[in-house]
Amino acid sequence: MSHQQDRVRPSGSPSGSATALSEAYDTALLDLDGVVYAGGEAIVHAVDSLAAARAGGMHLAYVTNNALRTPDAVAAHLTELGVPAEPSDVITSAQAVARLVADQLPPGARVLAIGGEGLRVALRERGLDPVESADDDPAAVVQGYGGPDMTWGRFAEASFAIRRGLPWFASNTDLTIPSARGIAPGNGAAVEVVRIATGAEPQVAGKPLPPMHRETVLRTGAKRPIVVGDRLDTDIEGAFNGGVDSLLVLTGVTDAAQLLAAPPEHRPTYVDRDLRGLLTGQPEVTPDGDAYRCGGWTAAVRGDALALDGEGDALDGLRALCAAAWTFAGAGVCGLETGKALAGLQL
Ligand SMILES: [Mg+2]
Repeated sequence: MSHQQDRVRPSGSPSGSATALSEAYDTALLDLDGVVYAGGEAIVHAVDSLAAARAGGMHLAYVTNNALRTPDAVAAHLTELGVPAEPSDVITSAQAVARLVADQLPPGARVLAIGGEGLRVALRERGLDPVESADDDPAAVVQGYGGPDMTWGRFAEASFAIRRGLPWFASNTDLTIPSARGIAPGNGAAVEVVRIATGAEPQVAGKPLPPMHRETVLRTGAKRPIVVGDRLDTDIEGAFNGGVDSLLVLTGVTDAAQLLAAPPEHRPTYVDRDLRGLLTGQPEVTPDGDAYRCGGWTAAVRGDALALDGEGDALDGLRALCAAAWTFAGAGVCGLETGKALAGLQL
């Protein structure tokens, strides 16, 4: 496929890039929460970095597993935060699941929609007819995040229809969703409620699964995309499954210890502090005997722990540690003690 890299990304080390990532890739597929904004506020350096990347010719697209809001509403929110965006720049899991449903049903089919406006708009866009009741003669059930006002009766409606044998689709299965007041149950938790009541299994579209990546590539026309995210098990694994490169930013839910313990499908191509990483090249990590060097740092395995020596940019130290940990772990998960090595880094 044209969007796939022609090389297999080595998972034993972060990669280097001689040119700025905004020049090396034509399109950034950006996650939103923890990358562009958090709790309604723009993340530090996001607005300026995205403006500079766009000015340099990079296409920016925003890819969210949240099926509640329409692309129009997400684009308006981004624009308000100082990140100008058109609705066509926003790809949601509602759009991905709507395509998945449309691929399996005749045009105009009725679909029981359990979710918010974003889901109903996406279904209509694919020529499907969202209905509200299991008694409205639907041909399938589709479930997306419905927000805090979703009533228990909606899950009952889904259960009635699924128990009659209808196919069941879910926009995404994120168990939690961040909110201004803390962590709340996400669509994955709602899907679990229906799963318990029905014993059925939904077809899922959202990150890290291929339907979501396919939707972003179809809608953006990206030839050489880079996925930018803060979560290993959605953003980075989604890039891995799609065969494209990725940049992990440390402004969201992933910390350095989790990154070092990542299995191959959760290892990003690059790691940086925040979205300024799009505007720069990335340093090489070079093997040196049984150690790994990056910038002024050297990382190695010593006994059952990772060790780090040197000085300089803390990110380079983390990159060197990633190479040591991931090479040691191979296809598995690094179980080495990392606390001491990370304590010396001011990340
Ligand atoms: Mg995120």
